[in-house]
Amino acid sequence: MASSWTPLSGPSHAIALDVLINGPLSRAELSRRLDLSAASLTRLARPLVEAGLLIEVDPHNGDTHIGRPERPLDVVPTSHHFIGIKLTGDAAYGVMTTLRAEEVASERMPLTDRDPQAVCAVIAELVSRLADSGPAVTAVGISVGGQAADHAVVTAAPFLHWADVPLAVMVEDLTGLPTVVENDVIALTQAEHWFGAGRGLGRFAVLTVGAGVGYGLVVGGHQITSPDAGLGLVGHVPLDPMGPMCFAGHRGCSTAMLTMPSIEAAASVALRRPVDYDEVLDLAVSGDPAAGRIVADAGHALGRLIALAANLTMPEQVVLSGEGVRLVDVAREQIDEALAADRDPHASHLHLEVRPGTFAQWARGAAVSAIQTFVLGPD
Ligand SMILES: [Zn+2]
Repeated sequence: MASSWTPLSGPSHAIALDVLINGPLSRAELSRRLDLSAASLTRLARPLVEAGLLIEVDPHNGDTHIGRPERPLDVVPTSHHFIGIKLTGDAAYGVMTTLRAEEVASERMPLTDRDPQAVCAVIAELVSRLADSGPAVTAVGISVGGQAADHAVVTAAPFLHWADVPLAVMVEDLTGLPTVVENDVIALTQAEHWFGAGRGLGRFAVLTVGAGVGYGLVVGGHQITSPDAGLGLVGHVPLDPMGPMCFAGHRGCSTAMLTMPSIEAAASVALRRPVDYDEVLDLAVSGDPAAGRIVADAGHALGRLIALAANLTMPEQVVLSGEGVRLVDVAREQIDEALAADRDPHASHLHLEVRPGTFAQWARGAAVSAIQTFVLGPD
């Protein structure tokens, strides 16, 4: 395959990147966006087209020009394929994607042993199952709920009871494929930023609910990160003074109000039997008073958290995701009420974008980490 990103630099790289994220784009549009003269754009784009990295595609219907119709430039999404894997405490979820993070295959394998060597063996098996059925794999991305350093080492992952595991090298040794490691919320936010609901937005926030509570923020087209991001800093925001207690002793914090284990625990106490998350939501929908109250309180807390994020960081949009995101559908009324109560009445309407929140979405985020390292180079 001639379409290599590796030697690209400067404006050539900027052209390829803009077409990948925002394409197809006409040469005129590209020269405007990148502040290049039409002549420079034509000169720089020609070798990218000749190398097969960019192709000319048919213009959309209605794009009529006087004289010769211009053919916009695009990438070939299937020119490269990536594998993304999301690790939880008990399973590895994998997807294969194109260069534009479109899912082409998925697989799930249980983790029966959390020892890093055993988990790496499962990852290698998952990669081989996904790769065997399809095209060549360019790189692998792995995301975990926890802290990752240098795209290579899991410094802490509480769900796996890991500390300082050199995961990227261990997986590369088994698969022979370049591998990067990233915090799961950072990876998911990048996926929304480049290829999802946040595409083209300068400023947006991502909130996830599931096993934990996650928060990602993009400002000025760049994600705000810190070595502390993997700690899940939004996990203990006080939201309800009457709420239940989290493991750290906070009453009504975001972990106590919004995580799936907390909601299951509250319902199991009230109903005096084990109840799983989806059943709590089903019971709330069908009018059960205890489940209804727990879910309404969770919705109220989520509305307050969204309002806090919106008031402090002024996003154009808040993306809601995570494996527990069904809460948003069931408790939408309480979310909207709490959001309105905590926002200035003159504040502009906040657009909430609800994503599927499946494990495949988390795994797709991991694939985007691999895609970004491939097209941007290691940083
Ligand atoms: Zn807490």
